[in-house]
Amino acid sequence: MPESASPMRFETRAIHDGQDPDPTTGAIIVPVFQTATYVQDGVAQHKGYEYARTQNPTRGALETALASLEGAEYGFCFASGMAAISACMHLLKSGDHVVASDDLYGGTYRVFEQVFRGGGLDFTYVDAADIDQVQGALRDNTRMIWVETPTNPLLKVVDLAAMGVLAADRKILFGVDNTFLSPFFQTPVEFGADLIVHSTTKFLGGHSDVVGGAVVTSRDDLADRLGFIQNAVGAVPGPWDSWLVLRGLKTLAVGMDRHGHNAQVLAEFLEQHPSVERVLYPGLASHPQHELASRQARGHGALISLYIKGDVAGARRLAEATRVFALAESLGGVESLIEHPGLMTHASVPEEIRREKGLTDNLVRLSVGIEHIDDLLDDLKQALATI
Ligand SMILES: *Cc1c(COP(=O)(O)O)cnc(C)c1O
Repeated sequence: MPESASPMRFETRAIHDGQDPDPTTGAIIVPVFQTATYVQDGVAQHKGYEYARTQNPTRGALETALASLEGAEYGFCFASGMAAISACMHLLKSGDHVVASDDLYGGTYRVFEQVFRGGGLDFTYVDAADIDQVQGALRDNTRMIWVETPTNPLLKVVDLAAMGVLAADRKILFGVDNTFLSPFFQTPVEFGADLIVHSTTKFLGGHSDVVGGAVVTSRDDLADRLGFIQNAVGAVPGPWDSWLVLRGLKTLAVGMDRHGHNAQVLAEFLEQHPSVERVLYPGLASHPQHELASRQARGHGALISLYIKGDVAGARRLAEATRVFALAESLGGVESLIEHPGLMTHASVPEEIRREKGLTDNLVRLSVGIEHIDDLLDDLKQALATI
């Protein structure tokens, strides 16, 4: 489990760190501080809280808890995962270059290309599973390496330790979107990541009822700047949303454990199915980076992608025929979801780039929930029988 200043283990920290009982009432649960401002005792004499964009105790509890779970020093919460990623990009300035993985969350690619490129940042996308490609893309003005691992939706695994060494050698920032595995399975700080980002909408919230994001870091200089950006740009989560994520965190460990178990069983089942051409899941021995994945992560998560034998019509039929797996974008909730990346989550990636990368029309992605494994197996069996 992740290193931390706290002597407690992950499961315990998820429930207690940053979450002391409320000192005024003894409430065991951190209250929802639904307030915009705070009364001061005298001019500029306050209790550490001035205005709720800048500080909110509910949000503060979540930030402390998240930093602890990632084994990092500082946490900053945002209104969405995209706002968290954007805050990291605001650390850079016009003329800076970023080397990013070519298989990013579709919204990340979109904000890089359609917002930050216009603001003067430059991006090069490479297969980050190949360290030589990353090294080859570095330039004098490269200021950051940005990866997800496993990637979305092709579940390629990026060597975090090798990337950390490369970034440290070049004295550039190393950012990791850790949404897919959550800190329960993977803590990039161990491998030298400077910035760890989450869409808390996914596993950390865990119940598909909130949108949020977070950045954690152990670097004082980055923390100063991120705190400034969080307040200056103002894309902060409200106290209710912070509270929902805080509640999600308490059961993160049991949830991830079950997500991972269910996904492993389903991936093994799908791999044997005659209607399935290929299954992508890092927990399978057939995954080309199974060994690396097992070395740097403590589990393989809930996302499975599969190529069915056939074309877009078959993929569509599978996605529309499941009954327990709901047809929906997103991932990381207690309920199982199925989607067609080419037509749904990754539709904003230009078609020829999709094709080039292997994001073909027969690709289907599953986010495996924590329902009973037999119901999930039965559902996939009956849905696959329709194609
Ligand atoms: C969902 C997601 C995001 C974006 O998060 P939002 O909360 O939807 O803004 C970023 N990265 C990954 C890997 C995601 O799955």
